[in-house]
Amino acid sequence: MLYLYEILEDYQFATTDAEKEEIFSSFCQKIWEHPNQRTITEKPITFRIKPTLLKTEIGEVFSNYTSIPRNVCPSTTKNTGFASLIRQKLNNIYTYFFDENICSRKEYLDLLRLPKKLYFQWESFLGKGEPEWILSPKELSNTLEQAMADAKRLKETCAREKMKLSWEEYKQVAEGYFRRLFEHYQPLEEYQTDHALVLQTGTWNEDNFCISYFCSGLHGYFKNYQKSYYGLYNANSRRKTSYSRCACGNLFLQNRQRNRRLCDTCRKQSRSQSYSRYNEKRKTQLPHS
Ligand SMILES: [Zn+2]
Repeated sequence: MLYLYEILEDYQFATTDAEKEEIFSSFCQKIWEHPNQRTITEKPITFRIKPTLLKTEIGEVFSNYTSIPRNVCPSTTKNTGFASLIRQKLNNIYTYFFDENICSRKEYLDLLRLPKKLYFQWESFLGKGEPEWILSPKELSNTLEQAMADAKRLKETCAREKMKLSWEEYKQVAEGYFRRLFEHYQPLEEYQTDHALVLQTGTWNEDNFCISYFCSGLHGYFKNYQKSYYGLYNANSRRKTSYSRCACGNLFLQNRQRNRRLCDTCRKQSRSQSYSRYNEKRKTQLPHS
């Protein structure tokens, strides 16, 4: 198996277009057919209640939450070959930007893990022989119900914030970016002289350099893809811009002075709504005035 830098160099030194095409398409094939496929698995958050605690009031509340369903998608690989690493990066980018079934926000996981966390707190509390736990069965049941409702809402918000793109379409877009990365590749020696980069020897090699060039390049391109998707991409903009999320899931340009909360679409909508409310109010008020 070739190293990535060899493939990139072969591509640059290729003298005919046909030769370039062959190198490029065999690279694409290596990536898409790599066994490091993107898989979603059901991995519930589970815990076991001690048999002696099962019949207590608190134990009964906990028993409704001993298996909380959750979808996961592996985000790391142990395989260090370039194809596996780049494929992993592509899997992660798809999960992050496009897969509405996966919410990897920490707050979401914390909410799903709350029953388990509280159970072990309670268990250790009893172990220490403390007379009373902080929560009554009713309070515990309310807390856990609330946490599950919050988690559901957060997952829905998370799904609204994902862009729509099928895996097949994603592959097309990604290949366009591979092409740019192939075309713009600078070998390490040239990069070093241009940027006066000092490298530690031994821990770093040419292929790591290429892999990280590829992965960070892909990440940057997809961030721009996201901006274009929401109509926010400006190739000439050099100033630092900040973005916010609207409740509808749209990404919009934040105005630092005004600190907006709504995207343009929702702003227009709420304005016309409040305008018609205002009109109705006037209509009902007019006869009296
Ligand atoms: Zn909106």
